[in-house]
Formats: sequence, C-alpha cells, structure tokens
Amino acid sequence: MRFSGWRVLKEGLTGNKGWSPHWRNPDPKTEYDIVIIGGGGHGLATAFYLAKEHGLTNVAVLEKGYLGGGNVGRNTTIVRANYYLPGNSEFYSHSMKLWEGLEQELNYNVMHSQRGIINLFHSDGQRDAAVRRGNAMRNQGDDAHLLGRDELRKMLPYLDFDTARFPIYGGLYHPRGGTARHDAVAWGYARGADERGVDLIQNCEVTGIDISNGQVTGVQTTRGAIRAKKVAMVAAGRSSQVAEMAGMRLPIESHILQAYVTEGLKPFIDHVVTFGMSHFYISQSDKGGLVFGGDLDFYASYAARGNLPGKEQVMEAAMTLMPAIGKARVLRSWGGIMDMSPDGSPIIDHTHIGGLYLNTGWCYGGFKAVPASGFALAHLIATDRPHASAEKLRLDRFETGYGLLDEEGTGAQHNLH
Ligand SMILES: Cc1cc2nc3c(=O)[nH]c(=O)nc-3n(C[C@H](O)[C@H](O)[C@H](O)COP(=O)(O)OP(=O)(O)OC[C@H]3O[C@@H](n4cnc5c(N)ncnc54)[C@H](O)[C@@H]3O)c2cc1C
Repeated sequence: MRFSGWRVLKEGLTGNKGWSPHWRNPDPKTEYDIVIIGGGGHGLATAFYLAKEHGLTNVAVLEKGYLGGGNVGRNTTIVRANYYLPGNSEFYSHSMKLWEGLEQELNYNVMHSQRGIINLFHSDGQRDAAVRRGNAMRNQGDDAHLLGRDELRKMLPYLDFDTARFPIYGGLYHPRGGTARHDAVAWGYARGADERGVDLIQNCEVTGIDISNGQVTGVQTTRGAIRAKKVAMVAAGRSSQVAEMAGMRLPIESHILQAYVTEGLKPFIDHVVTFGMSHFYISQSDKGGLVFGGDLDFYASYAARGNLPGKEQVMEAAMTLMPAIGKARVLRSWGGIMDMSPDGSPIIDHTHIGGLYLNTGWCYGGFKAVPASGFALAHLIATDRPHASAEKLRLDRFETGYGLLDEEGTGAQHNLH
C-alpha cells in the first residue's frame, strides 16, 4: 500500500475503508538468519536497512511489548547534527542526511520539521565553546551560525533578556536541526521492514541467548526457542539485562529521563531552544503543546517514571529562562530509561561472541541517531565490517581508554552527562 495525496483524497471520499494494517502480525518461525532483540527505533531501522540495502529478509525483530512502546515513543523528538568530536560528528552528520530523505524513502510522513535549533550561551567561555563547536560542524559539512544577543531578541522575544539571572549572550544556530514525530518514525520503519519480508514479532520477550563454542546459535523467548545465525542486541535502556544473558557486563547504566508537555497554546516557539546554564530545552508541538525536558533523575533505575525533584529542577530552569511559561498548565509528564555510557557516546560493534552484535549507549541522543544507527548496524551485520560513519563507536574503548568520545567533557560520571 502506497501513501500519496491522491490516495488520501480517494479514501477521504470513500469512507476510509481501503486502508490496510501497516504490518502483519506473524507467529515466530523456529529459525531465522538474523534475530534483532528490541523493536524500538534502532531495531526497526536495522531490520529495514538489512532488507533494503543488503537484501537480507529472513530476519525477525523480537519485541517484548509492542512496537515503538519504548523510548522511541517517549522522547522529545529532537533531531540534530551538532556534535563536536570526530566519531560522533560524522555519524550524526550521516544521520541528518538520512533524515532529510527519510519520508520519501519510507513513503511515510514522519513529520520531519527542520525548524532549527538554537543553543543559548551565557558567558564568554560558553561563547568560545559554541564557536569551536560551530566550526567543527561546518568542517563536517553541516550548518552553524553564531547569533548575537540582538538577533536573538528578535527571534526569541518570549525569553527573559532584561532581568535574567543568567544573561543571554547569544546562541549557536543550527537551521537544519529540528524535530520529527517519534512514533511515526517507528511505524514507518516497521512498515518498510514488514513490506520487504521481515517478521515483526510483538509480545515476545527474549529470556536467554544460546551460545555454543563461542558462537551464537539462537535465543530463548516467551514464545519458544528461535535459532539464528546472527543476533543483534538493540534493547536501549535494557541493554545490560539483555547482554547479561550472553554473560556480558556492559559499561552502561540505566537512568530515568523525564519529559513534559503543556496544554495546547497558540504557536509562539518556532525553534528548538536549549538553555546553556541548566539542562533545559523546549520546543512547541504541531498541536501547540510546549514539549520540554532537562536532566536525568540521577539514580539508576528501570522504572519508566520520574520523581518530583527531577520535575522541580526542570521547572526552575524553565522559569529562569522564560518566566511566561509559569502561566502554562502541564498536561503530562513521563519517563524513559536511558542507556548511559561513560563517555556519553554510543556503541555499535560486534561482541567477542561470534555472530552476536551490540547497539547501545544512546544516552540522551538516540532518537536523532535512529537512521544512521540502523544503517550502520545493518552494514556491520551484513558485511562484518563497521560502516565508515560508525568506525569509532567501538566497545573496546572502555577497556583500553583509547578513542573515548567524551563529547561534553563530563568523563565517566553518569550524573554529569
Ligand atoms: C524523555 C526522553 C527524551 C528524549 N529526547 C530525545 C531527543 O529529543 N532526541 C534524541 O535524539 N533522543 C532523545 N531521547 C533518547 C531516545 O529516545 C533513545 O536514545 C532511543 O529511543 C533509544 O533507542 P530505541 O528507540 O531503539 O529504544 P527503545 O524504543 O527503548 O527500544 C528498545 C526496545 O527493546 C525492547 N526490549 C528490551 N528488552 C527486551 C527483551 N528482553 N526482549 C525483547 N525486547 C526487549 C523494549 O521493550 C524496547 O521496545 C529521549 C529519551 C527520553 C526517555
């Protein structure tokens, strides 16, 4: 089934009776060439690119809940390519290029909106860091502009420029950054993978990983044993639990990250804006809700819900930056489980077990990474060589200390990411 303007018009005029389900609901087979553990953004994108780029379709995605029910449907939808360090820089730049063609590639409206991201700075030191980051982005071929206080005042009149506790000095503007509708991304990849023959198995929790003579041979699940030549662990916040099934201890901590949305308001925030003096960022959804978030809750947990001190920190930062937000009513808040790596950067690699692959460590940034992550992991699984964009995202950097990608200079302290 292809989507088009003509199809929408025809269905609208004929009672919307011609739409069919986006994907099948197959029972698991007893054997696949490739099994992917986790039906979030990364798992579904990996399945899609395995089929599309490499013609590998004897593939199953095993999801313990429903497709897109994890972090891919819980994030604040920011898409950007404003990374600084070699390793992350080329990877996220590649992801941005894939985002820019994604709707055509999937024939699916993921509501990708390049409304621009502005990172505010509030001191001379922060300005220097923004200039360095902007230069790195431009060297990578991406876009970055330094904005002064006066330009910003015209673009973001709702911020406090006069009595702010942390005066706004300027901002680093990344026009190609923006947002996309998170669950539509999961649905679009799921539909694309299913169309090409991949089995998407929901309500199927992996409970064990079978290994024989150092080689993976399959998985145990709540819907029976499944043999596989290759298995990819793509479980985001649950990565440590899944890897433990293969006897691996990962350098990952799982922490809660909360987000918030207000009642619908008239459009007044045109960009994604981040506050440089506290961990706070905000955008406005197409329905008018202000979508915002901040720091982790700072304790390891698998509970996908947050605590009150976390909320207090975010609300305080919001009021410091834009006091007018105090008039808006918060409708909902929620939490997701973040797979925090010690250097704040991801891992896409094979493991020491033959045929077993790992995709994790997405920290705050895994939504924008979905296209490039799926592309790179599919390449790795299909060819057993890392894709050029993901060559530095190796697991052994935490063992050797070489090649750490400490983007924010926060070191191995999860509570500082
Ligand atoms: C509040 C919040 C805001 C965020 N904001 C942003 C943002 O603005 N921009 C950005 O780039 N990133 C953001 N992120 C991060 C991003 O959402 C995640 O990094 C990313 O979604 C993780 O990858 P995923 O989509 O594959 O994860 P998930 O959707 O969590 O997928 C993993 C899947 O694995 C499944 N699974 C786990 N264990 C098993 C098992 N044993 N068997 C079978 N299946 C299993 C889970 O059920 C889950 O569906 C945010 C996250 C949160 C929580």
